[in-house]
Amino acid sequence: MTGERTLEPGRAAGDIYRTLGVEPIVNGRSTFTILGGSLMAPSVLAAMAEAAEAFVDLTELQAAVGRRIAELTHNEAAFVSGGAAAGLFLSAAASIARGVPDGVAPLDRTGLPTEFIIHRAHRIPYDLAIGLAGGTLVEIGTDVATDQAELEAAFTARTAGVLYVPKAHLAPAVVPLEVVCHVAHQRGIPVIVDAAAQLPPRENLWRFTEAGADAVLFSGGKALCGPASTGLVLGSARFIERLAVNAAPLQRLGRPMKVGKEDLVGILAAVEWYLELDEEALIRRYEEQVAHLVDWGRERDDVDVVRVDMGEAGQPTPRALVLLSGRDGYERDAFLARLRAAPPRIDLLAGDENTFYVAPETLRPGDERIVSDRLGQLLAELAQPAEPAREQSTV
Ligand SMILES: *Cc1c(COP(=O)(O)O)cnc(C)c1O
Repeated sequence: MTGERTLEPGRAAGDIYRTLGVEPIVNGRSTFTILGGSLMAPSVLAAMAEAAEAFVDLTELQAAVGRRIAELTHNEAAFVSGGAAAGLFLSAAASIARGVPDGVAPLDRTGLPTEFIIHRAHRIPYDLAIGLAGGTLVEIGTDVATDQAELEAAFTARTAGVLYVPKAHLAPAVVPLEVVCHVAHQRGIPVIVDAAAQLPPRENLWRFTEAGADAVLFSGGKALCGPASTGLVLGSARFIERLAVNAAPLQRLGRPMKVGKEDLVGILAAVEWYLELDEEALIRRYEEQVAHLVDWGRERDDVDVVRVDMGEAGQPTPRALVLLSGRDGYERDAFLARLRAAPPRIDLLAGDENTFYVAPETLRPGDERIVSDRLGQLLAELAQPAEPAREQSTV
């Protein structure tokens, strides 16, 4: 996702990085934190600059921003965390401290419930945040499926919560969220939904809480085009209250994941921007960028380019899938490494075998041409007899 913006005369996008000797990247991978997440919308930047002009009571601001975001997203309550992963940590801490009278998670979890039930198909690298909060994961099901009996049998006196990752493309045959919430709530156990990258559609901002989830996490720095160091926790007033007592600015376990005043108003501006965004027009722009790449591929016999109708995290957005005909996965990796090595540095996501994806959501308007031109150049170099010395220095 990218916003439109203007630079001062004589300055090009990314010059501020070049000054440091860090060559910027054309991002065709998607909203990956490692590449900077997304480009903040101009209204977000303006709000942040304005927030930098005055001091404020951070607790009051957190509460006010939370109330406003809850209203906008049709949720009972909301909390701004230092990223979706921090939201996962805070949700886990709040779940573990459920039986503690003041709700504050202690460093010593002896005697507290610490187990989180998760469908095996929902394991993600970010679930480390549960461990950081002192929790452990109890897997149910297989890589592709789970049934309700298995879910019901997994609850014990040590259960603190259930973690659910709504990526239908990962595992269509898991227990539906509504059922998971029903089963967990019968036992007084909260359900945490990690929906960090599940936008668009915007309805997801309320759909998972409507299904019964106690806390739903979104990244501020992905489709919302807010500060990369923010995330949303949307959910029930009761759960969010218990989460907030474990979070910064209080001197509690969540203190290392603080969110500043500029970030707080920045993510609010981002939510406002996103809710007013014409999602259909945005997806039309994606379609045009993908169509450009498909058309480009049609002219060539060394690649096949097709449109696929699912984003990297399973979102209903298109991508281009490029197949390097006659080459294997090893050559594909070397090709992608070369694409990333020299300006215009382009980062793309490898697919199966000899394929890779071009994701439009992080391409700025016109980047699709930079990508196709550069792909064409590298393919032409590849078709020439190898020059050993040059190969070594560029791969
Ligand atoms: C991106 C992502 C996260 C981490 O989000 P941050 O806002 O970068 O902390 C967590 N879970 C899932 C499923 C994600 O895709």
